[in-house]
Amino acid sequence: MSSTHPAYLVFIGPPGAGKGTQAAMLEKKLGLKQVSSGDLFRENLKNQTELGLLAKSYIDRGELVPDEVTIRMVQDRMQRPDCDQGVILDGFPRTLEQASALDAMLASQGSKIDLAPVLTVSDDELIARLTGRRVCRNCGATYHMIFNPPRVEDVCDACGGELYQRSDDSLETVRNRLYVYYKQTSPLIGYYYAKGLTTFIDGGQAIDVVKQALLDAIQTALHGK
Ligand code: ADP
Ligand code: AMP
Repeated sequence: MSSTHPAYLVFIGPPGAGKGTQAAMLEKKLGLKQVSSGDLFRENLKNQTELGLLAKSYIDRGELVPDEVTIRMVQDRMQRPDCDQGVILDGFPRTLEQASALDAMLASQGSKIDLAPVLTVSDDELIARLTGRRVCRNCGATYHMIFNPPRVEDVCDACGGELYQRSDDSLETVRNRLYVYYKQTSPLIGYYYAKGLTTFIDGGQAIDVVKQALLDAIQTALHGK
């Protein structure tokens, strides 16, 4: 998508709403970089960094990693040159503190958030999605055993890597992650609504239907079409 200034989109929704699936599909189409705080933590964990080890204790319990370290990690990532055209944020911000830090960072660069699409999905559907999710160990691509299976069982279509189940996708941790979402993250809907940035999309529809609805809303926000 050609634009004179970088575009910033914030995908909001509970765990399992499809933020990562959609962001990965849209990043090439829109020419924006997907930045997923969860992926950044998992990368740190894989590389056994201090940040990764700190994050692990929170991720395992389905709690949020403290704001200060999370904000610093995402801000650092957004300064890299592959983010120059703009970013699709997926999983960040998750607290009001993170949202205002993001606004301040963008404002200091003369930028702002263009749209905060909210994906709505019922809790029963979220639980079915998260407990059946599979992720590629190599490239991070996301599948679902039933709703979005790979061509060959447990093998990534994109890179041939091995698929695994995230340890925080167990039923017990998923329940806590939903609780944490409603308590700490859902207030962001009001925060962005008050700024006129929300658009509500039924995330319970098929992946391609959600993708088209998102694309339509994003094109309108960026180009007024
Ligand atoms: P999030 O990033 O919001 O936590 P994901 O994109 O990882 O969610 O999706 C969670 C799970 O649901 C994955 O297994 C994914 O394949 C599946 N999924 C995503 N979107 C849909 C959809 N529209 N219908 C059915 N399953 C979906
Ligand atoms: P996700 O991959 O988005 O489902 O995130 C997995 C886990 O990483 C969450 O349950 C949190 O423990 C942690 N995490 C990801 N993003 C954030 C964030 N913005 N703030 C705090 N913790 C986060």
